Amino acid sequence: MADLMKGKRGLVMGVANERSIAWGIAKALHAEGAELAFSYQGEAFGKRVEPLAASVGASLLVDVDVTNDESMDAAFATLKDSWGSIDFLVHAIAFADKNELAGRFSNTSRENFATALNISCFSFIDVSRRAAELMPEGGSLITLTYGGSNRVTPFYNVMGVAKAALESSVRYLANDLGPQGIRVNAVSPGPMKTLAGAAIGGARKTFRHTEANSPLRQNATLEAVGGAAVFLASDYGNCTTGEIVTVDCGYHVLGMPQSENL
Ligand code: NAD
Repeated sequence: MADLMKGKRGLVMGVANERSIAWGIAKALHAEGAELAFSYQGEAFGKRVEPLAASVGASLLVDVDVTNDESMDAAFATLKDSWGSIDFLVHAIAFADKNELAGRFSNTSRENFATALNISCFSFIDVSRRAAELMPEGGSLITLTYGGSNRVTPFYNVMGVAKAALESSVRYLANDLGPQGIRVNAVSPGPMKTLAGAAIGGARKTFRHTEANSPLRQNATLEAVGGAAVFLASDYGNCTTGEIVTVDCGYHVLGMPQSENL
């Protein structure tokens, strides 16, 4: 490791357990010398996150539900009091009603549409504005998206729409915050075995399909997703903003499955 992140500190949002993409990113940032704070959603997740945070030397933990303004206010106030400023923020948060991550997209309810877009997209706009106030010297904001944003994948449904809105938000935020030296990007992994990933109908089949057909004949690893995030958070990413960095072993270039699988 090359201490690419030495002297930088930031908040990682969205660790639920050791399989979380946010955890893969946190480990990679820590291995490059970053100092980390974590947010978790409620006490039950807090109990899981505590030992993980401790294993990377992090003691600053905040309880945040992104739909609750008070918890957001409190978390960013704590960050400001403790650190004064931050250099990066990782947003690995998404949610939609599991019942609508199966069946037909046309059955999406108004309520779940609003919830999915609120938690999976608006929350990134909200945390970006708050984080930018703590980045007087510039910084790097990173969110997580998925290729179901612009191509139909089975049962991704309303999350595809939420990720399309999220990717568009990345571009608007990049333009808004660029003059302050703040870069805004997304990492787009292929399917990964996580809590959120398992909520999508047919997740196992999708996982097997991308593994059997991607040019590299495998799925993305937490280490590789972490590595892409390190690039974006480090000074090597200094001229990259408004970008969606795909980490899916090349699956997105395909027009059809491999011939052996037809
Ligand atoms: P995960 O279940 O480990 O993480 C999802 C996180 O979202 C959890 O920590 C959960 O607490 C948090 N969250 C949900 N609602 C919240 C709320 N109201 N307030 C605060 N936090 C809330 O799953 P993951 O797969 O690591 O998901 C992380 C990100 O990666 C998501 O944006 C997801 O869409 C994206 N992603 C996942 C995959 C995949 O296949 N798993 C692929 C591409 C992108």
